[in-house]
Amino acid sequence: MVNTQLPRPFLRGEVARRPATRRKSWRGGGEGFSRRAGETPHPRSARPLPLKRGEVSSVKVFLLAFWCSFVSCATALAGSPPKLIVIVVGDQIRADYLERYHDALEPGGLRRFRDQGMYFTHALMDHAVTKTSPGHVLIGSGVSPAQSGIVGNDWYDASLGHAVSAAELVPGGRRVQLRWFVGSSLAQRIHASRPQSRVISLSLKDRGALLLTGPDQDGAYWWDSDKQDFVNYSSIPPPWLVQFNRQIRSFARQHKKWNALTGVTSKQARDFAETAKLTKGHIKDRWGLGRKFPHPVPSIKALMNSPFSDDIVEQLAETAVREWHLGQNPSGDPDVLTVSFSAVDLVGHEYGPDSREVMDAFLRLDRAVGKLIRSLEQQVGPDIIWVFSSDHGVTSFPEVSRARGLPAGRVRFNKAAISPEGLVEAVSPPFIYMNEAVLRGQPQKRAQAVAQVRDGLQRMEGVDKVYTVIDVEGRQAPRVILRSFYLPKAGEVKRCGDLMVILKPYYIFSEDDYGTTHGQPTPDDQRVPLGFYGSGIKRSLHEEPVSPAMVAPTLLKLLDIPASDLAAPAAIF
Ligand SMILES: [Zn+2]
Repeated sequence: MVNTQLPRPFLRGEVARRPATRRKSWRGGGEGFSRRAGETPHPRSARPLPLKRGEVSSVKVFLLAFWCSFVSCATALAGSPPKLIVIVVGDQIRADYLERYHDALEPGGLRRFRDQGMYFTHALMDHAVTKTSPGHVLIGSGVSPAQSGIVGNDWYDASLGHAVSAAELVPGGRRVQLRWFVGSSLAQRIHASRPQSRVISLSLKDRGALLLTGPDQDGAYWWDSDKQDFVNYSSIPPPWLVQFNRQIRSFARQHKKWNALTGVTSKQARDFAETAKLTKGHIKDRWGLGRKFPHPVPSIKALMNSPFSDDIVEQLAETAVREWHLGQNPSGDPDVLTVSFSAVDLVGHEYGPDSREVMDAFLRLDRAVGKLIRSLEQQVGPDIIWVFSSDHGVTSFPEVSRARGLPAGRVRFNKAAISPEGLVEAVSPPFIYMNEAVLRGQPQKRAQAVAQVRDGLQRMEGVDKVYTVIDVEGRQAPRVILRSFYLPKAGEVKRCGDLMVILKPYYIFSEDDYGTTHGQPTPDDQRVPLGFYGSGIKRSLHEEPVSPAMVAPTLLKLLDIPASDLAAPAAIF
C-alpha cells in the first residue's frame, strides 16, 4: 500500500486556524530589510481549537500547498529582520519522538520549536525514497528527487559499472560543486540575488553537509571516516579546522562510556526491556558500542557512531559561526547556516526506534540543539530564524512489529533472489537495473524480461507494488512515485533503474538479520517534525499536513528571492 494520502492526525490539542487578518512579512530589498508600506503587524490567533480525529486525513499535500498559499498558514512576523537563518536537521527523527519524549525535553531545546514556535505536527516527506540525501535536498532546496536527480544516497551507474554517491564533489572552484545535483539549489538561488550572503553547512555525514543547501555553498564541513578528521570542500583545511580536529582526540579520551542521560518511567522501562529482548539477536554491534547501557565507547569510530558525535557537530557549528562571523555580514545581508545532526540515525539503524538508546540519543540531540541556540543567540543576538526538521523517519525492527501483532518482515533484495536467470545487472534498493548486456537491442525480449522480474517481485512476501519506467513515463503511478523518479535527459545515464519496488508497511529491505532502516513511502518513514522558531515568529501549532518542501520557498520569500520555478510554490509565511 503506497501512502499517497497524508496520515491521520495523531495529536489533539491546540490548533492555529485561518487568520482573520492579512499577514505581514519582511521583504528584503536593495537597502536590506524593510517593511512594506501600509502593512501593520497582525498577530495571528492561536487559540486552542479541537480537531476531530481524521479531519485532515484525506487532504493531499498539493492541496495543502494551495491552501497555504491563499489562506496563509503563516504567522505574522514582527520585529527585526534576521541576521542569520539556521536550518537544523535531525537525521531520522520520526515526528512522534517530539510527542513521545516531550516531557523529557529541556525547555531550551527542541521544545522551543514545539511550544514557542510555529510547529507542524503533520509534516510528511512527499517522495517515496525516504532516505537522507533526497530528504536533505527536499528540506533545503524544496525540490523532489524527480527534479534534483538526487534519487537516493547512491545509485547504480551502468556506464561506470558501479554505484555512485549523491554527495560526489566536483573539485575546483571557490564554492562547493556537486556532480549529480540538477537544477537550482538553495545556495545558488541565494547567491544569485544576494552574493554577499554566506551559506555554510556542516554535519557528521558528507551528504548531510553537502546536500541540504546544495551546490554553491561557501563552506561545507563533514567527518571523513578514512582520514578520521573533519574535512572541507577545499583540500586545504583552514587552521581553525585543524585545531578543532586536534581537540576531538581529547574529547574522545573524556567520553569512553555512554550512560543514559535520564531516568525512565516504569512503563518505559518495561517497553525498553521488551524491545531489548526482541532485538537482542539483531544488533550487529559494528562499532563496539555493545548491546546495553552503559555502552563502552572504545574508539574514535565508536565515538562518531554514538550520540556524542552530535555534541562534536554542535561544537563545530559554534566554531564555524565564530570563524565565519556569521550573522554579522558587513553587507547587511543575512547569512545561512545548516547543521545536520546524524547520531539518532546511526543509533536508530543499530538499535531501532523503540530502544532506550534512540530515546537517549534523541534527548542528547535536544540538549545539543539547546546549546547551539543559546550560543548563537549570544554570538549573534536574537535576530535569528531557526528551522527544525528531519530527512525521514524509520521503521521498527520487524521482530518488534510482529510482537505487536503487525505483519512485518525482512525482504532479501539481491540479484540472485530477484532473477536467478541473470536478467538483472544491479540492485540498489528500491531500484532494479536490467542486464543490458543480455537485453540490449532486443526490445521484445527486454519487455518480457521486465515483466518477468516484475511479476516475480510482486509474489515476494512484503512487496506491495512494483513500478516500471514505462509506468512512470506514462504517469501511471501515484504522485509520490512520480516525484521520486528522475527520468534521464538526453545523454544522461539512468539513475532509477528499470523497476522500483515498494514494500508494505513494517517490511524493510534487509540483506542480513541486523538492524532496521527506512526508505519507503510509509507513514513511519515519511513523517517528520517541522518547526520554525526565533525572531518574529509567533507561537502556533498546526495539524494541517505540510511538506518540508515548503521550507525553501519560505526562506527565499523572507529574503525576497524569486522561487517561482519551484514545484512546491507555497511559502509557509
Ligand atoms: Zn537520514
